[in-house]
Amino acid sequence: MLELLDPKDPMEIAVFSTKSYDRQFLDAAASNKHTLHYVEAQLTADTAVLARNADAVCVFVNDQVDDAVLQEFSSLGVGIVALRSAGFNNVDLTAAKRYGVVIARVPAYSPEAVSEHAVALMLSLDRNIHRAYARVREGNFALEGLLGFNLHGRTVGVVGTGRVGTGVAKIMTGFGCKLLAFDIRPNTACSEIGVEYVPLATLLEQSDIVTLHCPLTPETRHLIDADAVARMKHGAMLINTSRGAIVDTLAVVNGIKSGAIGHLGLDVYEEEAALFFDDKSDEVIRDDVFERLLTFPNVLVTGHQAFFTADALQAIADTTIANIDAFAKSGKPVYEVTQAT
Ligand code: NAD
Repeated sequence: MLELLDPKDPMEIAVFSTKSYDRQFLDAAASNKHTLHYVEAQLTADTAVLARNADAVCVFVNDQVDDAVLQEFSSLGVGIVALRSAGFNNVDLTAAKRYGVVIARVPAYSPEAVSEHAVALMLSLDRNIHRAYARVREGNFALEGLLGFNLHGRTVGVVGTGRVGTGVAKIMTGFGCKLLAFDIRPNTACSEIGVEYVPLATLLEQSDIVTLHCPLTPETRHLIDADAVARMKHGAMLINTSRGAIVDTLAVVNGIKSGAIGHLGLDVYEEEAALFFDDKSDEVIRDDVFERLLTFPNVLVTGHQAFFTADALQAIADTTIANIDAFAKSGKPVYEVTQAT
């Protein structure tokens, strides 16, 4: 576990997109060293002003740390934005540098939480657990429509073999799968367990399950587009627990309609910022693409919960406070995000 430093000064920290579970774990990690101001609102150019009087701001994946927000923070005297996440695609790093706002993140809090969730999606979809759950509660014990396939002997293609992707590769090796991988920086930990690195096109053509674990960057935006779907083995399973925009959702909807994609498991969605992390059950959801996804029997969507284990929340809170402690002490967080990260 990360050592929490003794800060020079207590900091006033504005925590955006706060949920009850954030409070629980951050309060325990901060243990009265800093003053935490919890804000339920998502961070946007309109809500950035809620960080007035704060030395530090703490944000989550759908908070927009863009040019306008960073300019506002700089004028309010906010010195650091501490992300409660590994991904930082929601931050304009060039603007942060220009306005002198330091960005910190939690590079690895519990990759196993995300790896295990990706595998949970695979197993649920393969064996139709999501449908069986609803059927049995209705007294319907028919098996038609629940036919699965053995994972043993199947080929799994892992795109991005960092912490999460390597975890998935290890678990799937245990199931007796053949593992293919594509990464711009191959990982020896994967090669050592028998994972074979291949070009992306080969991975798409040969995998029964394609699982995405690369970050969202300009290069990976819509990595899975209509061409990629056309390359995939007919009826293959696609899993995305990484970032929504790695997948072109419309291309994937068309792939499901044509049968090119046999199963789809998503924990992330391109337009999730307007939907996820809140109870919308009393509202009319206006996102027709998202609603179309939910009509398919072979699609399973979870609302960005792959990280959501007690172990991970504890680690996120500890590292976030350690980042802020180190910044208070030395002007540098433990895990700074720079252009070169
Ligand atoms: P990581 O940095 O350890 O690994 C990412 C891997 O992707 C690296 O090996 C990197 O070389 C590779 N990569 C980068 N660009 C690539 C490209 N163009 N093509 C192929 N591979 C590429 O990150 P991680 O901890 O394994 O997390 C992976 C992603 O999972 C994060 O970027 C984040 O977006 C996502 N994530 C989601 C959740 C969730 O709750 N759903 C939680 C944590 C992380």
